Amino acid sequence: MLIFITGALIGYHSFTYGIIFDEIMIQNILETNFSEACELISWSYVGYVALFGLLPSYLIYKLGIKEQSPKIFYKEKVFVCFISLSLALALFFSFYKDNIALHRNYKQLRQLLVPFRFYWSSYNYCYKSFYFADKGLFKISDDASLQNNQTKNGKKNIIIFIVGEAARAQSFGLNGYTRDTTPLLNKSSVLNYKNFHSCGTSTSISVPCIFSHLGRKQFDVKQSYKSENLLDILKKLDFQITWYDNNSSSKGVALRVTKEIDQFDNTQHCLNGSCFDAVLLDALTKHFPLKHQNNFIVLHQKGNHGPAYYLRYPKAFEKFKPVCKSTNFKNCTQEEIINAYDNAILYTDFQIAELINLLQYKEAEYNSAVVYVSDHGESTGEKGIYLHGLPYMIAPKEQTHIPFIMWFSNGFINQYQINLNCLHKATNTRLSHDNIFHSLLGLLNIKSLHYNKALDVFASCKS
Ligand SMILES: [Zn+2]
Repeated sequence: MLIFITGALIGYHSFTYGIIFDEIMIQNILETNFSEACELISWSYVGYVALFGLLPSYLIYKLGIKEQSPKIFYKEKVFVCFISLSLALALFFSFYKDNIALHRNYKQLRQLLVPFRFYWSSYNYCYKSFYFADKGLFKISDDASLQNNQTKNGKKNIIIFIVGEAARAQSFGLNGYTRDTTPLLNKSSVLNYKNFHSCGTSTSISVPCIFSHLGRKQFDVKQSYKSENLLDILKKLDFQITWYDNNSSSKGVALRVTKEIDQFDNTQHCLNGSCFDAVLLDALTKHFPLKHQNNFIVLHQKGNHGPAYYLRYPKAFEKFKPVCKSTNFKNCTQEEIINAYDNAILYTDFQIAELINLLQYKEAEYNSAVVYVSDHGESTGEKGIYLHGLPYMIAPKEQTHIPFIMWFSNGFINQYQINLNCLHKATNTRLSHDNIFHSLLGLLNIKSLHYNKALDVFASCKS
């Protein structure tokens, strides 16, 4: 009865005004006043609620509750649930490709579910308003301090941290892929870690996890919103932090330290509100010269965001052909999907190489480092699985085995006393997002109670 009544109460507004009951709408409902609300009540609204809410509720009420022994009751329920669930799963999987593509391409469909979206948004709204409001921020930056901070060569320090999107390790030429998808990085002097694994299989989990002091097993995404992270520590130590975002957002990571820059009015690299990752590099180029001694800049890429891989790179990067030019994978062969995917990797190779070129060009003024890590991997039809986001326990390696690359300018190596040979020897070690927080603290000579030496790849590779 509750479902019918709320369904009618909000369904009317969805149909007549096209209203979506997201969290902001819940807030609007709670913050409205009596006269404003009264204006929305009409005879047709009353009639609609009576017909689709009250009438079915009345019929359910009249049906009454059958008296039954609990044993028969539960037997019947279990049977009905089992049959219903089996039917639902059979239906879903017989149109798996369509379903997956549909939900990816039309995310707003989920917003239209009446009345379940309303329940979900209400829950989220309450959770965020009350739960977070009560618990204070969990601070990890208070005790952090910089060691050996004297500049050795008078240059400013800059670390560019690239968060990739849906790039998987096996599709990187650097990792031995049969196709040369990373021709420029192959020729560069990057450190390439071949056995690196993600914290999650989706952006919303992996991005906050990358910057968290907690490892995958302890990490909780809801907790992460009320905990400080690596960026808070850097901010406390006077690093100038900038977050450029060509993806969805920093997922709360940059909330306290900087305003995210996610609007690029760049006619060269953008079309219909969607931009190639070149906008990040463009924005970064305009960022120079830097005023601060220590700078930490995040570039959050669109990378290989699916299913429209073919929209992730300019025409010049269409090296592997033919490509899938549909967002509905049903219209493409697996080869076409992989071709488009690989072209997007080729484009990322170019972006990273260009960035290194830029920093090499500025070697005289800056000690610079580049760190590239993908947030998670991607399935491109292996065993009939596409995209990403499967629960970690059952996720295939395509979704969790990811590229991790680092590069340092000579000045940076000198300033931070990095032993490159030592690092090169460890590039086959099994590592994961868990190592990033601790390694960056180690790299930048930051002392903290939350630092774990065992997870720092630089621990034994600095002189
Ligand atoms: Zn992602």
